[in-house]
Amino acid sequence: MTVPYEQLKNDFTILQQTVNDEPLVYLDNAATTQKPESVLRALELYYQTSNANVHRGVHTLAERATAQYEGTREKVRRFINARETAEVLYTRGTTTGLNWLAKSLGDLIIEPGDEIVISFMEHHSNIIPWQQVAQNKQATLKYIELTEDGQLDMADVRAKITEKTKIVSLAHVSNVLGVVNPIKEITQMVHDVDGVMVVDGAQAVPHMPVDVQDLNADFYAFSGHKMLAPTGIGVLYGKRSWLEKMEPQEFGGEMIDFVGLQDSTWKELPWKFEAGTPNIAGAIGLGAAIDYLEKVGMREIMDHEQNMMAYVMPRLEEIDGLTIFGPKNIEDRTGVIAFNIDGIHPHDVATAMDMEGVAVRAGHHCAQPLMNYMNQPATARASFYLYNTLEDADQFIQALKATKEFFLNGLN
Ligand code: PMP
Repeated sequence: MTVPYEQLKNDFTILQQTVNDEPLVYLDNAATTQKPESVLRALELYYQTSNANVHRGVHTLAERATAQYEGTREKVRRFINARETAEVLYTRGTTTGLNWLAKSLGDLIIEPGDEIVISFMEHHSNIIPWQQVAQNKQATLKYIELTEDGQLDMADVRAKITEKTKIVSLAHVSNVLGVVNPIKEITQMVHDVDGVMVVDGAQAVPHMPVDVQDLNADFYAFSGHKMLAPTGIGVLYGKRSWLEKMEPQEFGGEMIDFVGLQDSTWKELPWKFEAGTPNIAGAIGLGAAIDYLEKVGMREIMDHEQNMMAYVMPRLEEIDGLTIFGPKNIEDRTGVIAFNIDGIHPHDVATAMDMEGVAVRAGHHCAQPLMNYMNQPATARASFYLYNTLEDADQFIQALKATKEFFLNGLN
C-alpha cells in the first residue's frame, strides 16, 4: 500500500470528531462523501477572490471565474477520458442527467412499441425517468433479472436486448449490491442492435478509473457530491453525434445564440444544455476534488476499497444470522456492503450503530424494485471510501456485534 490512508483522514476536518463519545466512523459514502480541506479552501478562495458570473463579463473577475469554471470542464474531460470538452455537460447531479436524457432521447428516438431495457438493481433515478418515457410514448420498459448473488444475469441480458431495444440504461456499480457491471461488454451488445447505451455512473466514477472511450457507452452520468465535491454539481457525458441531435431540456440565458420573438437558436455544445447561471462554485469544487482523487490515484482507491472488503467480509460472515447481499467475490464489487441481521430491523441496526459512533444507512436505498426482488423490506448498508481505515472497519465490526448482543440477548 503506497498511500498513507491513516493520514488522508487528517485532510477531512469533519471526520475528526466524536459522535456519542466515540470516534466518528463515517460509512455512508454511497449516500454522500465528506469534503477534504482542499475542496473547502477552493470554494472559499473562489468567493474571496473570483466570484462573478461566467461567460458574459469582460472584466477581470468574470474572466477569472470563467477560466476556473471551464478549466474544471477540461479536468473532468481528462478524468473520464472524453474526446472533447463539448461532450462534458454540467448538471446538478446524476438524477438531472438521467432526466434530461430520458426526455430528450425519448422525444428523439422512441416510438410506440419500442423497448427500453434497465435492470432490477437500478436506483430510482434510473427507473422513473424511463417509466415516464415508456408511458408517454407507449413503449415497453423491461427489467434484466439478477443472479442469486446479485449480478446481472448475462443470459437474460442477451435475451432482453433485441431488435426492438432502443435504449439500455444500467448502473455501472449498484448502490446496494456494490456489484460492478460489465458495461463494455453490454455496450457492444446494445450497439449490435443499433441501440443507445446509457450508464448511471454515480457509484463508479468516485471509486475506480473510468474511461468513457474504452467503455464506448453513448452517455454516462455521475454526481460530484459522491466524489468529494459539493452537492448540486454533476456531469453528463454524451457522444457529440448524439448531443448534436438532441434538444436541450431547459431554456433561458446562457444557452442561446440568437433570440427572436417567436423562435430562438442555441449555442454550440456543451453550452446549449446549460441554461441559466450555473453552479460555478460547485464546478470549481469539483475541480479541486478531482485534483485530490488524482493525487491519491483512482486505481489506488479501488484497491484500497477492495482491501477493506477483504478485511470486512470474512468478519461479517462470522456473525451468526447476518446476511450479506451482492457478490461474495471481492473482485466483482466496490466498498458498498448491504446486510441484514435476522430478527433486527435495519433501522434499529443503524440507530444502535450510531450510538457507537458508526454512521451507516438503513432503508430501501432508493431501490424499491431491488428490495422487492430480494424479498427484503429494507437493508442496512455500510459504504467505505478512501479515508476509511482498518481501525474504522474494526469499530464497525465491534459496533455490529454490540448491536446484535443488545437486541438479541441484552433484552432478556
Ligand atoms: N444512481 C445511483 C446508483 C446512486 O447511488 C445515486 C445516489 N444515491 C443516484 C443515481 C442519484 O444521484 P444524485 O442523488 O446525486 O442525483
